[in-house]
Amino acid sequence: MNDPIKPSALHTHMFIDGEPTSGAAGKTFPIFNPATAEEIAHIPDATEADIDHAVRTAKRAFESDTWRRMPPSTREHLLLKLADLVEKHTEELAALETLNQGKLLAFSQMLEVSGSVQWLRYMAGWATKIEGTTLDLSIAFPPGTRYNASTRRVPAGVVAAIVPWNFPLLMAVWKIAPVLACGCTVVLKPAEETPLTAIRLAELAHEAGFPPGVFNVVTGRGETAGATLVKHRLVNKVTFTGSTEVGRMIGRQCADDLKRASLELGGKSPVIVLDDCDPRKAIEGAAGAIFFNHGQVCTAGSRLYVARSIYDEVVQGIAAVADGMALGPGFDATTQMGPMVSSRHRDKVVRMIAQGKLEGGEVLSRDAAVDGAGFFVRPTVIANGLRKPLSVVKEEVFGPVLVAMPYDDLDEVLAEANDSEYGLGASVWTNQLDKALRLADGIEAGTVWVNTHNMVDPAMPFGGFKASGIGREHGKAIVDSYTESKSVCIAY
Ligand code: NAP
Ligand code: MG
Repeated sequence: MNDPIKPSALHTHMFIDGEPTSGAAGKTFPIFNPATAEEIAHIPDATEADIDHAVRTAKRAFESDTWRRMPPSTREHLLLKLADLVEKHTEELAALETLNQGKLLAFSQMLEVSGSVQWLRYMAGWATKIEGTTLDLSIAFPPGTRYNASTRRVPAGVVAAIVPWNFPLLMAVWKIAPVLACGCTVVLKPAEETPLTAIRLAELAHEAGFPPGVFNVVTGRGETAGATLVKHRLVNKVTFTGSTEVGRMIGRQCADDLKRASLELGGKSPVIVLDDCDPRKAIEGAAGAIFFNHGQVCTAGSRLYVARSIYDEVVQGIAAVADGMALGPGFDATTQMGPMVSSRHRDKVVRMIAQGKLEGGEVLSRDAAVDGAGFFVRPTVIANGLRKPLSVVKEEVFGPVLVAMPYDDLDEVLAEANDSEYGLGASVWTNQLDKALRLADGIEAGTVWVNTHNMVDPAMPFGGFKASGIGREHGKAIVDSYTESKSVCIAY
């Protein structure tokens, strides 16, 4: 076991105006190691005054010449420096993430930290590539006057970024990297369960040379700190990743205030296995799609549709994979699945499995409940051979729970795949190009993978159809998300 982070070395403050702060009221709440249920630190519980301070600081930084007049190439350079610092602190950041979130240390290193470095470097490049257009206008008066017009993209202003606990560092970077590349300033609120890597990221940004106030982190509860941040009148744009339920509330508030909002929300992603797929490949692919990150993935492949001819073999095979998985702390190199993030979340997952059974689902894997202190749940496969209307088919579990159903023809499976309020991701497993394309065309989801699942890249747009959200992250589209278009019209 390798657990180099000691509680005394944890960074347990907020970070506002380039400085650590405990907040005006000095109130705190505990955070835990989900693998042991031990308290590892106390974190400031931001009050309204703290949020106001952070937003005003971000506003002042936005308007200051050091940020606003900074050449885009300098913003690019700062983001590249931050990427280098994150890379240099890989071991520390990965250990912090595993301690606080519970995921496997290798995933913390390869996905959270290396992914963050990759995103920071990609987004740094956009700082110098923000463009407008020039336009010929047809305005005919006063006679003899001509017009020259151009558009430019200007930073949206102060951004409130609110992120969940499943990929704490990577989700923070998905927000702050493009926000800073576009010349905005930001107040980031990490999830109450997992604030440690976001705090460290802000410290590293300060070390990289970002001016004070450009990147602030507030810690606190969603209903208080998060809601106050969203409502603050000096916030111009809210970018949120989290549940559909909270996303709806934030969307409503932003509509009232006429604030810009991007919402990356929940999912219930279908995995469709066609009859030509090698069952071994289907088992490996579908198990990876649902059990990766303990199922705590917005695009987790939680609904499995398998062609009837190979259904039994594939579903039994995934149940065997589930039963063979070694649960344990993320620091243990033999662990294949870590804990749920919190006791509350563990209880919700166990409750949803029990509900699935009660409604007629057949649990093929071992009992999900695990004795002991940590917040563990065993990976679970529920067969729904008669396709009953199970709540676990409709609702997001956000845990390692797969519901499997057979199907007989493509039109039928396409209709079932789309019969969901969500539309975030989907995967199709086949070598039949025509069928793969037909399904990719028909599935209502922001991303459709073929013969893979859960793969993301900074160049590839990501986001949801339907109740899975509004807007796209990554790629070229991200620039529009954090800038406003301004037309400049000159008469001559
Ligand atoms: P959540 O409960 O919606 O929380 C997400 C964030 O919102 C947390 O920082 C939370 O603070 C904050 N929050 C809660 N209530 C708020 C309010 N009234 N006003 C403002 N902020 C508020 O979601 P979660 O359980 O942490 O995360 C899991 C969800 O995120 C799943 O539904 C998953 O699908 C979704 N997700 C989506 C994507 C995507 O890209 N589409 C990616 C990852 C996860 P507290 O932590 O203090 O509650
Ligand atoms: Mg929460």
